[in-house]
Amino acid sequence: MINIQNIHKSFGQNEVLKGIDLTIEKGEVVVIIGPSGSGKSTFLRCLNLLEEPNEGVIEFEGKNLLDPKTDINLLRQKMGMVFQNFNLFPHKTVLENLTISPIQVKKETSAAAEKTALELLDRVGLKEKAQTYPNSLSGGQKQRVAIARALAMNPDVMLFDEPTSALDPEMVGEVLDVMKSLAESGMTMAIVTHEMGFAKEVADRVIFMDQGVIQEQGTPEEIFTQPKNPRTQNFLSKVL
Ligand code: ADP
Ligand code: MG
Repeated sequence: MINIQNIHKSFGQNEVLKGIDLTIEKGEVVVIIGPSGSGKSTFLRCLNLLEEPNEGVIEFEGKNLLDPKTDINLLRQKMGMVFQNFNLFPHKTVLENLTISPIQVKKETSAAAEKTALELLDRVGLKEKAQTYPNSLSGGQKQRVAIARALAMNPDVMLFDEPTSALDPEMVGEVLDVMKSLAESGMTMAIVTHEMGFAKEVADRVIFMDQGVIQEQGTPEEIFTQPKNPRTQNFLSKVL
């Protein structure tokens, strides 16, 4: 589904991504771990061109994202993204947060968009919140709305950048549960997280990033119980 070759990205003199290669298969759940500042967010943002790489190839469903002829907006619709800080529209109801893009971008009818939105809110356990505003929700509820909103565009892949890092500890579980059931439904997912228990349980593959490169990757079993790279060993010794 996604084929990344030799991605480089610099901000001024600071080379943040130093040649990343990664293939993500349809239905695969890839969890990206690594120390702060190692380029995880930049990498995820490159996948949907929120950041433009300086060099490299990103193919999504067979199309080269960096080819000027590619309709990047169309491809972006197929990539849902969930951020640490929710980014909900504060002046729209929960329901409107879910329907606005399907109506405006995909030209769905209000009735069709609302029907889908209510199904998705039900799926994340928040159907009764449809008519409320985001500021009346807890952090965990906001993030579940953000996930439902991304799903409302019917994406082929979901990208998550530390979706539970801004949450109070007691709300982390409800968001991880939604992500877990999404993974079980067969969604292709790339997830940056510090939740190692979740990574162990849900990931098909764990990627350890440090200093702008993938230092090591493998199954959760390989990475968490017998990491080969000393950098991975050192990182895990601090977080586990
Ligand atoms: P991580 O998500 O692993 O913590 P980031 O991808 O956010 O790492 O950041 C990696 C490096 O890139 C950091 O040194 C950060 O300061 C730098 N960086 C990220 N975004 C920008 C930006 N828009 N402008 C300048 N530097 C940036
Ligand atoms: Mg980050």
